[in-house]
Amino acid sequence: MNPRELLPRSLWLAPLGLSLIFVLGVLAWVWANEADERDQLRQTLISDALSTEAQLRGRIEDERGQLRQLAAALRGQPRNQDSLESRPEVNAGLRRLWQSVTWLDARNRVQAEVPPVSEAGAYEDGLSLHLTAATEGEGTLVVRYAPALLLKRGVPWWLARKYDVQLVDSADQVIASTTDSPLRAALGERLSYRVALPGPLRASPLAETALTDAAVELTLREPPTNGVKPLAWVLVAGFLPLIAVASWLIRRQMRQVQRAEVAGRTEAAWRRAMEDSALVALRARDFDGRLLYVNRTFCELVGLPAEALVGLLPPMPYWPPDALEELTERNRRNLAGQAPREGFEARWRHASGRPVDVMVFESPLVDAGGRQIGWMGSIIDVTERKRLEERERREVETLAHNARLTMLGEVASTLAHELNQPLTAIASYTAGVSNSLAKLGVQDELVCGALQRLGQQAAHAGRIVARIREFLTRREPRHERCDLHEVVRAALDLMRRDCQRRGVQLELALAPEVPPVWADAVLIEQVVINLVRNATDALQAQAGSRRITVSSRVAGGFVRVTVQDNGPGLAGQRIEQLCAPFYSTKPDGMGMGLAICRSIIEAHQGVLDADEAAGGGAVFSFSLPLEPLDAEAPADASSDMSDTRTSP
Ligand code: ADP
Repeated sequence: MNPRELLPRSLWLAPLGLSLIFVLGVLAWVWANEADERDQLRQTLISDALSTEAQLRGRIEDERGQLRQLAAALRGQPRNQDSLESRPEVNAGLRRLWQSVTWLDARNRVQAEVPPVSEAGAYEDGLSLHLTAATEGEGTLVVRYAPALLLKRGVPWWLARKYDVQLVDSADQVIASTTDSPLRAALGERLSYRVALPGPLRASPLAETALTDAAVELTLREPPTNGVKPLAWVLVAGFLPLIAVASWLIRRQMRQVQRAEVAGRTEAAWRRAMEDSALVALRARDFDGRLLYVNRTFCELVGLPAEALVGLLPPMPYWPPDALEELTERNRRNLAGQAPREGFEARWRHASGRPVDVMVFESPLVDAGGRQIGWMGSIIDVTERKRLEERERREVETLAHNARLTMLGEVASTLAHELNQPLTAIASYTAGVSNSLAKLGVQDELVCGALQRLGQQAAHAGRIVARIREFLTRREPRHERCDLHEVVRAALDLMRRDCQRRGVQLELALAPEVPPVWADAVLIEQVVINLVRNATDALQAQAGSRRITVSSRVAGGFVRVTVQDNGPGLAGQRIEQLCAPFYSTKPDGMGMGLAICRSIIEAHQGVLDADEAAGGGAVFSFSLPLEPLDAEAPADASSDMSDTRTSP
């Protein structure tokens, strides 16, 4: 795997990694925040504890001041119950905080006590603290108060609500508390702070035991959260699995996208390869005829680059200017969806100016949603095919023309031959009649003159006929060294299309090697064509398989070419009959083909033959000598074709 691939493949991990970093960051922030908060709480606690201690101390000092004022007021008063009870300070103190006021003499004996001792036991708090003030004559005033009441009165309500305020002694025993169930047991988890209350608290006036180590302790009621708040944990715990699931979904999605991308790329590559290697030119057009796409073959066909074509509207640059009107009309028809399904031919123009013959097939262009958005044209370049067809057509025409000429020559030659004899007879009879008349002494000038002119005219006609015949038969084959197989193949090539059209199978079974013959290739080609055409005609009415086999064989200084068919055969007719001029069994036949063939073959010192085939059908064959003929005197045998015709 290369590094370029690694990055996109592991990209799906990025959101997960970023989320983890984010979560850790949030946790760190929450934790730091919590620590800050804790610090702040602690600061507040300390200041609250100090202020509580100050307030308590102030309160005790106040009480002590009140007691001193009472002591001063009792100066000079008799030390008895009435004196004490009559003091308004005593009542005020009792209403405030005091539980009892006791007046002791120098020997700490109780002189007076408010409320009386019997009622003092009613105080709820077993543990009491005392304030003392010296009175006149070594007496002492002792005020007993409940530390719980002190806390209740001395601690502001908002502090009591926030903290559990306690008085503790040096042995860490709770003396009093603002709550019934102190939170000390769970002290470790809660925030608390202790401030020493110096000096003024005494456990008992007699024992003089000083609670010098007493202290005020404030404990936060709400335990400060330790570390990150649970809500944060819940959020994180919920967030992480969600992110994990999301990442997994992203990964799956990425894989699907990757797979789709790979498939898409492969398909695109396939398509491009197919388009580029296609021999068919492709063009896509919208309904206005605007070119949307052209493949490479199309560009090569018209000689223009795709950039110059895509986006163009008709008329197209490859339309020949002289056919613009016709092509515009046809284009309109095609865009209306009326292009012939079997395709149509058109002539375009290459950028170089040369004409290009094309075959165009139009089909609907459909988008991914199945909606037709235009037309897709497949174009095949048929220029070469048309050129070959044209050449073939011209060749066939020339061939037919030559054949007609040859046939006419032969007809004329035959006519001349046939007329020669009657004309000679006319001349002879005329001469005979003239002689007879002369012998009889007939001197009729009119008759004798007419007979003489008749003889002259007949002789003249005979000379004309002889001249024509001489002219026609003087035509000598142009002998040359030629490969007979080549000649046969050329002839069959010309016949092949005709055979295909008529459903005739043309087979070739030539000898592996044949020495060159001395012949007129054009005339021999005519012979082969004629024989094959006759065989095709004979097979025309044949049901089932139609087969023509052309074979060659070398034997005895001759090469023999045979044309065999599986047609109806010759019905017992001999070659002489078949080769007779104007003999034909075809409705439109002229009956000169075989006669001409025979003339040609015999002019080459060869023999034309015909026979019934072994399995049915006809066999026509001709033989040609292998030895080169004497080129200087070849005309002997062909000087009079009609004469050679009957020779074996
Ligand atoms: P045409 O073809 O004009 O009839 P031809 O001289 O070429 O003149 O042929 C003469 C006749 O010979 C044909 O009409 C036909 O009856 C017969 N013939 C020639 N070739 C075959 C053949 N392969 N099979 C059967 N009959 C044939």
